[in-house]
Amino acid sequence: MYPASYYKNTVGRQVQCTLCPHNCLLLPGEIGRCQTRTNKGGRLFSLNYGLLSAVSTDPIEKKPLYHFYPGSSILSIGSLGCNLSCDFCQNCSISQPEPEAFSQYPFREPGDMVQKALFHRDNIGLAFTYNEPTVFYEYMLECAIQLREHGLKNVMVTNGFINQEPLRTLLKYIDAFNIDLKSFRNDFYRKLATASLRPILDAILTVASSGIHMELTYLIIPGYNDSPAEWKEMIRWIEDNCGAETILHVSKYFPRHKLTSPPTPTQTMELFIAIARERIHYVYPGNNPQLDNHTHCPACGAMLIEREVYRTRVTGLTEQGSCKQCQKKIKGVFNTVI
Ligand code: SF4
Ligand code: SF4
Repeated sequence: MYPASYYKNTVGRQVQCTLCPHNCLLLPGEIGRCQTRTNKGGRLFSLNYGLLSAVSTDPIEKKPLYHFYPGSSILSIGSLGCNLSCDFCQNCSISQPEPEAFSQYPFREPGDMVQKALFHRDNIGLAFTYNEPTVFYEYMLECAIQLREHGLKNVMVTNGFINQEPLRTLLKYIDAFNIDLKSFRNDFYRKLATASLRPILDAILTVASSGIHMELTYLIIPGYNDSPAEWKEMIRWIEDNCGAETILHVSKYFPRHKLTSPPTPTQTMELFIAIARERIHYVYPGNNPQLDNHTHCPACGAMLIEREVYRTRVTGLTEQGSCKQCQKKIKGVFNTVI
């Protein structure tokens, strides 16, 4: 067990975890909704510190991040637990584990991960992903601080359900975020993900206004969040609050965990992408190789980045990240020198 960072003492030896908007109240011996934090004697502890369920080097496009060092590789790690409980979770074996399962996973010091990240010459840094990194906050932060000292990059792939204070601390160390926006309806979050929409919108606003690189991901689930009217409303919100230059991934759903809806039809993906492109410059299909996911210049249409599954070629950009043909500056971080 490792001391947790964000909590306060309430009455007697009860504590309130303030890491995420669930703000769990825990009596001694109780465990939070994420299954990863417990009250021991009036102090809050992390149960998953340094327990890694996955360590793998991935293309950065797999996070997905398309405008952040395209074509590079990043060491990616995941732990256990999640503060949401999505019926459609693609990683439920590690996001919803029984606490007894934790002992099966190896402990790795943050320094081990930093050394591993430094070892491979072409690796740009460390991505916190696979399960929700918010619930291994202390470990992520320690790795990120150490990695920064070595000049490498930190990436957080998150559901965005995190309180503002811990998020603002992360902004000092995280270089790029991918944030899931699963729906524009609170009702969806309440019923299918045991969460609420507002804190996630607030997290997106905070990251967007920080200037740190951010991409958004939306998974279209037939029958649950595939209303074009709702989608238009969400796209307007993104344009108004994050700008037309936002990078948005629209992903194909496959049945997983508790949901049995059929996979997202390609026609639905095409319709959603077309609607989004009316307002947002960079909209990409995910999990669907039938659809074009190259980057074109929004000003002159020139091909900038070609992608075939995870093979990426940057062909039309200058080293400063401008279109070679018309010199438009493209949103993102393209300098390949780390
Ligand atoms: S991080 Fe876990 S313990 Fe803390 S408030 Fe969220 S769900 Fe509860
Ligand atoms: S937020 Fe992500 S990891 Fe957590 S339960 Fe939902 S889909 Fe799974």
